[in-house]
Amino acid sequence: MIHPDEAVAIMRAQRRDPPIEEVALREALGRVLPREAVGRIDQPPFDKAAMDGWAWRPASGEAMPAEPLRARGVIAAGSGRIDGDRPDDPLGPGEAARIMTGAPLPPGASRVQRFEWAEEADGLVRFTRAEGVDNVILRGENARSGDIILTPRRLGAQDIAILAADGRDRVEVARSPVVGVLSTGTELAEPGQALSGAAIYDSNKSQLVAQLAGFDVRDLGRLPDDFDDTLAAVSAALDGCDVLVLSGGVSMGDFDYVPRALEAAGVREVFHGVAVKPGKPTYFGQAGGRYVLGLPGNPVSVFVNAETLVKELLYALSGAAYEPLYAPVAAAEDIRRKGTDRVEFLPVSIDADGVRPVRYGGSSGLQALAEAHGFVRLEIGQDAIAKGTVTRVRLVR
Ligand code: AMP
Ligand code: MG
Repeated sequence: MIHPDEAVAIMRAQRRDPPIEEVALREALGRVLPREAVGRIDQPPFDKAAMDGWAWRPASGEAMPAEPLRARGVIAAGSGRIDGDRPDDPLGPGEAARIMTGAPLPPGASRVQRFEWAEEADGLVRFTRAEGVDNVILRGENARSGDIILTPRRLGAQDIAILAADGRDRVEVARSPVVGVLSTGTELAEPGQALSGAAIYDSNKSQLVAQLAGFDVRDLGRLPDDFDDTLAAVSAALDGCDVLVLSGGVSMGDFDYVPRALEAAGVREVFHGVAVKPGKPTYFGQAGGRYVLGLPGNPVSVFVNAETLVKELLYALSGAAYEPLYAPVAAAEDIRRKGTDRVEFLPVSIDADGVRPVRYGGSSGLQALAEAHGFVRLEIGQDAIAKGTVTRVRLVR
């Protein structure tokens, strides 16, 4: 049995320069950006107003003009001129122009006085209160041409916005490994179908397809616990996939055929058994440039190991590092466990008092994940996290 950190290190060691493909920005959500994105433009491209108000120019840095200012037309967002008299003349001393948020500051102006703190009468503008800041967003303040605007990562909505703001409608992403997902278990029924006798619904396949969204995930169906069927299915899957993720059939049961079938299919075992809970019987093997992860069938085990191992492997094959989000949170109550011979991931929720365990009876208890915001990790030999201790929560929501 290997330590889970070693299993992660083995996943990370598969890192390679991935093949690159260009996709439309709107197709890029969940895709891996394998290289830094470098800004192409200054953002904003011009000095602009941060407020609706009066653009003006103090003589020497003062926040309140000594005399009322003469009102001179209006500058709309999207307009490069002062609509009114002398639209293209710079703003002179003693003048102010109405300016809308996002409009370019006219030449000569350096501050914006918000409308709420000014009064206009008879073509004159008086300020009622001094602004503490200039209310101007300088050219390039958000990002400059040549800046690294994104480091390598899996693209989220905010990253898509950052690329769009830089003017891109296409983006170079890692070509995803083809990931086949296969459930094993004679007891499994497809959601949507009637349930009979000793059957349960297959939740793992739906979970994996959703959890790995953004990668090129293929649903390869379900298998009964049968050696010949398993051998045939994994052999076929290995032809068409870079990574095969199986659930079930890797433990000590009489009908757990997956490791034997993989061996017969020519897969070389790298490890089988990880000192982690849930997920002790987890299997990893390689055949040529292809990879197989066999996860024990209990749903929480599949969830945790897809987070900790499958994602690590898929990111590595996409040329990026998987960086799960951790939050340091104080334990709102004692978090205890039985047995300390393995690293354990326990599902927890976070509220205003801190982090606490959710009701959880073990790796078959999928329902616990409805409430869990993340997992805390207990190390080998550690039986508790005492109330008040700040601990790292690995967030999954
Ligand atoms: P196994 O790893 O095959 O021994 O399965 C362990 C437990 O997980 C058994 O109770 C199975 O019925 C359950 N299980 C296996 N595969 C799935 C699946 N795809 N969806 C939900 N539960 C599963
Ligand atoms: Mg099984």
